[in-house]
Amino acid sequence: MQKQSVTNSNADVTSSTVETMPEGMEWMLDAKCRGAAAIEFFPSDGSGVERAMRVCATCSVQSECLEYALEHRIEHGVWGGASERERRRILKRRAATV
Ligand code: SF4
Repeated sequence: MQKQSVTNSNADVTSSTVETMPEGMEWMLDAKCRGAAAIEFFPSDGSGVERAMRVCATCSVQSECLEYALEHRIEHGVWGGASERERRRILKRRAATV
């Protein structure tokens, strides 16, 4: 899945694509969800969330993805193996420790 457009659709990832990748977003090239339908990571029910989280559990950029979502306060979807509710909890916990 491409939550953010990192390449032209159906284009192979090339070195020029990597060079034009916005700084700090290079991890998206290794996302396990690349190419998946967006709806898979923006599920409308709990079983969909669990399916997405199972993919995230095997993703090599899980921590980068989670930090990106937290940093950008992304409210919707599963990011970095965390549901919307889990990300809110993480942000709350972090705010409490600052
Ligand atoms: S952790 Fe999940 S949502 Fe994030 S890039 Fe990997 S598969 Fe996609």
